[in-house]
Parts: sequence; C-alpha cells; structure tokens
Amino acid sequence: MYLDESNDKPRDECGVFGIYSPGDEVGFKTYFGLNALQHRGEESAGIAISDGTEIHIHKKMGLVTDVFNENLLCTLKGDIAIGHVRYSTSGDSTEANAQPLLYRDYRGSVALAHNGNLTNVSLLKKRLEPTRLSKEISTDSEIFFRFMAKYRQLPFEKILELCMSEISGSFSLVVMTKNSLIGLRDPYGMRPLCLGKLKGTKSGYVLASETCAVETVGGEFIREIEPGEIVILDKNGIHSIPTRSSPGKRHLCIFEYIYLSRSDSVIDGRTVNLVRRDFGRELAQEFPVEGDVVISVPDSGMSVAMGYAEERGLPFREGLIRNRYMGRTFIRPGQKNREQAVRMKFNTIDEILQGQRVVIVDDSLVRGTTSSHIIRILREAGAKEVHFLVASPPLCYPCYYGIDIPSSGELVAARRSIEEIRHHIGADSLHYLNLERMLRVLKRPHDFCTACFDGVYPVQLLGTDSKVSII
Ligand code: SF4
Repeated sequence: MYLDESNDKPRDECGVFGIYSPGDEVGFKTYFGLNALQHRGEESAGIAISDGTEIHIHKKMGLVTDVFNENLLCTLKGDIAIGHVRYSTSGDSTEANAQPLLYRDYRGSVALAHNGNLTNVSLLKKRLEPTRLSKEISTDSEIFFRFMAKYRQLPFEKILELCMSEISGSFSLVVMTKNSLIGLRDPYGMRPLCLGKLKGTKSGYVLASETCAVETVGGEFIREIEPGEIVILDKNGIHSIPTRSSPGKRHLCIFEYIYLSRSDSVIDGRTVNLVRRDFGRELAQEFPVEGDVVISVPDSGMSVAMGYAEERGLPFREGLIRNRYMGRTFIRPGQKNREQAVRMKFNTIDEILQGQRVVIVDDSLVRGTTSSHIIRILREAGAKEVHFLVASPPLCYPCYYGIDIPSSGELVAARRSIEEIRHHIGADSLHYLNLERMLRVLKRPHDFCTACFDGVYPVQLLGTDSKVSII
C-alpha cells in the first residue's frame, strides 16, 4: 500500500503553537490553535502543558480531533502550553517522533515543538553528547536537547543562543519550561512564527506558525518573530533577545504564499488570499488565454483563479469540487488505482464545463500525475478546451529545508520542457507564473527562499551531497 498520491503537492511540514496565559484554559486554546494549523501537518498532534511543577504531554498519531477529546482536554490544566501538528520530513512517521518532545535533567523539564529541517545535524551529533531520550526517537529536532545536555552548566538563555548560532537550517521553535514559554526563529527566518496578544487578558500571549491560529484563540496579531530572535514570555512579561546570529537577511520560504499557509493568514501585512489574487492578475497579464470560464484546483488555487478571472473579465465558477473528507487515504499502486484516488478526491460539475473553453488554475505542478487525471475528468465532463495555468514557476530543485518536494528526478519540470509537460498532462496550453512577476507581487524580492525554482540555496547545506549554489 502506498500513501495517497492523489495530492501531487509539496507536502506541508509542521505547525507550532504556544500559549502563556495564567488562569486561562490553555489546554483548550492550544487544541483550537492546532486545529487552525491542521493543514500544516496531518500525521500526528500533541500538546505539552505545565501545571507549575511539572510538564505533562499527550500526543498521538492522527488529526487533532482524533488525538484529543473534551474529557482529555479537561484534564490538561496549567498556565503554559505548547502544541504541534506534524508532517515528517526527518525521522520516521511514528508516535515516538510525534511532538512536543520532552527532555528532563536534574534542573527540570523542557518541552519543544519544531517546524523546519536542520542541515548540519550529522556534524553536530559527533561533538554533542547523546541525550537520554528514547532510542525510538529519530527526529533531527532532538539536537536541541543535545545542546541542553552538553552545556547544562550554562544559563538556559545562553544555551538557546548557542543553538541559534550553531544549528543550521530552518527552524521555528516553541519551547517551554515549567514557568516560561520561549519562541525561536532561525537566523534567515525561513519558517514563519508570529506573536499575538490574547484579548481581554492582562498577560496572555500566543506564539503560532500562522496568524490564523492567533485569531482562532481570540488573539490579536502583534508582530512576526524576527529572524534570529529569541522571545521569552514569563511572569516578567515579554523579553526579547535579538541574537547576533541573524545575517540581516530574511529568506522566508516562498511556498508559504503559494501553498502552505491558509489564505486568511497574514504575512507582511497582507492576507495570503490577497497575494494569491495578485499572482492571478500577473498570470492574466502575461497569459491572456481565450477561455469561457475560469475554475481552480481547490483549495489553494482558488484565490489565484479569482484574481485571474477578475483581471480577464471572465466568470469564475466552481467546476471542480474537492471531497474534504478523504483524509489520508491509502491507495494501491498502479495507474488505475491512482486515477481512482483522484476521482475520489475531485468531482466535476458538468453543466459548468460542457462545451466550454476551460481555464483551470493550480498553485503548483510537481510530478504532473494529478494534473493529467484532472484534465482527463474535465474533458470527460464535456470541456471543449482545457488551458492549465500554474501560479508558480517550474519546480526544478529539491528542498532541504523541511518541505517535502521530491528529488529532481521526480520533478516533471526538471526533466521536460514546458511543451513536453503540456503534452504529458494533455492540456491545450500550459503556462507558469514566472519568478520575476511572483517576486514583484511580494514587493521585497530578496526576502525569500526560492531555491526549488532557481537552485540558489540561502542556507549552507552541510552534510549533504547536493551540488547547489549558495548565496
Ligand atoms: Fe521553500 Fe522551496 Fe526554499 Fe524549500 S527550497 S524552503 S520549498 S522555497
């Protein structure tokens, strides 16, 4: 049995959430926050909570709603909590690797939840002490605990600063001790992490991968955690340590805008929805395809398709419906079974498509397998022409920073020309949004990681055998 291939997309990595709010229902709020971040990881979910004397953890494989129920949440009492939803990019997809992870030594307990991928772990492991964590734990995130073990004589803040300066790769981290909540963002700011204030509380704060989680728990977005910044929340309020590790450059993963973030989340002052609509407008200006109706591959292609339709003066319709209740379906190998999985996931509304020149917008094109199945079912539903527009440039390089993009050998754009891909997926025309236009929409062209499109990797890839340019 193979894992669902009907969603031929870069896979989300993880979502993290942290809350410091004395006297509040922090267990329930963490549950709600994780629900809002569910799209970032569907394999496992977990919450760690401090009752002031000890940290307790509950985590399991499954969706947030599978892992927690009301009775269980009623037992999670305390003033500080962190939570995690996981999609594994390093380490096995097992309950042992589910997060938060817990570390104990003679000074007390520390729990952490990590979003990202580390690139120099094998080198660091050689000089750091092994931790007393279970042998079953095989995730790179454990390296943070090795620092705590090795430098246990140092103040906790100093250990975090050391982690910041020595660990390479992408990380947004929420960490908790029994009386403080800490947020860390890697020196290039590759993964998002934001700070919010809980409305109606004196000293209630949250940290989250996306602003949608802050709003879900009744919080107000304050600001993003800066690249290389450590933020500590405790009874003394907020304390920020701007470490010297930040090179002053920001390289947020551009896929946050394309696919990863929820469209109601705000990055850099604009909702992801508005940015995606602008991607659609740019696509329309560059490729004014002659069509009758614009549809999208739901869900992340929807805002782009609306922008395209608005700019071209064409109707946007729901021609393709996504079955939201498929969850993580297992399918049998083989072309026929994969096609069956796509049919389970997508249905057409035939009266919208019959006899029409259909413009369909998707956020990205990875292997091209799902796209060709979708085009086939659109034609079967009566579409006269199918023009396929992709709201991102051709994906040609793998990601080493925590997004599960297949190797170059599996990326269709790394092996074939655009015309060959068009032919392969069976579209009447195929167009990609180019990187220049995409960066123009984002306004700060040098603030993003775009490595999977241009092969220019912003963070050194120590311990990998990749032949790539580093900026
Ligand atoms: Fe994001 Fe691509 Fe960079 Fe990976 S390589 S961090 S997916 S932009």
